[in-house]
Amino acid sequence: MSGGTQTPVPAGATIGFLGGGQLGRMTAMAARTLGYDVRVLDPEKDCPARGVSSHTITAAWSDAVAATELAQGCAAVTLEIEQIPRPSLEAVARTAPLHPGVEPVFTVQERARQKQWLERHHFPLGPFRVVTDAAQAEAAVAALGPSIVKAAMGGYDGRGQVRVKTAPEGRAAFEKLKAPVCVVEAFLDIHTEISVLVARRADGTGVAYPPSRNLHTDGVLTWAVTPSGVSAEMQDRAESLALRIADALGIVGLLAVEMFILGDGQLLVNELAPRPHNTYHHSERAHPTSQFEQLVRAICHLPLGSTEIVRPAAIHNLLGDLWEQGAPDVTKALAIPGVRVHLYGKKEARPGRKMGHLSADGDTPAQALERVCAAYEALKR
Ligand code: ATP
Ligand code: MG
Repeated sequence: MSGGTQTPVPAGATIGFLGGGQLGRMTAMAARTLGYDVRVLDPEKDCPARGVSSHTITAAWSDAVAATELAQGCAAVTLEIEQIPRPSLEAVARTAPLHPGVEPVFTVQERARQKQWLERHHFPLGPFRVVTDAAQAEAAVAALGPSIVKAAMGGYDGRGQVRVKTAPEGRAAFEKLKAPVCVVEAFLDIHTEISVLVARRADGTGVAYPPSRNLHTDGVLTWAVTPSGVSAEMQDRAESLALRIADALGIVGLLAVEMFILGDGQLLVNELAPRPHNTYHHSERAHPTSQFEQLVRAICHLPLGSTEIVRPAAIHNLLGDLWEQGAPDVTKALAIPGVRVHLYGKKEARPGRKMGHLSADGDTPAQALERVCAAYEALKR
């Protein structure tokens, strides 16, 4: 039932979420705003979406029976995490319309499969090799030069990745990652990182958000800002690329395309995410339609909302490191004009764990970014 009916899902119907982390929680709140009921499946009992959900199922991703239970009575099911075993996705799709569907999620969920799919469809990528043992990893780094060895499954926020300079380091990285499959990517000379978010309906109509410009530190997003400041020509290229990828995958819902702009102007795809994305958390400030509302609209066969930029805006992540001496004093951030504080309700703060984010608007993207960074600095004290 991945196609499903294209009749608008009426208010009062139930939307199911595979995943009740912060992305599920924020999407669930948007679903509530549109009058839908919400239920959630997550392996963690106290997941962030619990308070927004009428019925929360606590079960492993591999539990196809629990996945079926989630889908029963749902008008649509969506997901906030792509690494869900195929049998669980299929169990959902047999019971309720799953958006995005099994095939696009399966294609994206494993890094090697995703890269090879992008390559087969002639989308622009940096040089890479798929490797399945330490000797292949060593040979790949010998061929590619300084590289990043990335586990094909299970990595996020820069975890499951090792940066290497020499071939022996490539071998050691493969051994350290203990993953059966890795992707070795040449280390690129990145000038700017952007992402483009696409929303696409079951009837094939889609819209792209203008690119967001992103700063990562040690593989984790630090901040993102809109407008991105890239040229109009680059913006067109990036949006068209993302729309073509979403079309080719047959996405219903959202697709985030992370991209690298190199020093020489090349535009390359880094990776895909078939769900809301950290680099568009400020979409609720910059655009008439937040990414969360847009996802609900797309999966409920409602008209897609405008993605124009109405106001420059930025986001800054709040990682668990800030919680080292207890919860930070958010009043300091809230005192800065235009700043909003978003906390995900996670009980346990660990270094690197995404606990919340700050957003800010401004008259210019520089001002929005300045405000959100000042608010972050204020929380550090
Ligand atoms: P996330 O889940 O946060 O998107 P991830 O763990 O999937 O991250 P990637 O997107 O593969 O990781 O990489 C994280 C960051 O590391 C990128 O945004 C970029 O800053 C840097 N990076 C990744 N691949 C390369 C590369 N081939 N060359 C140079 N830098 C890279
Ligand atoms: Mg990434």
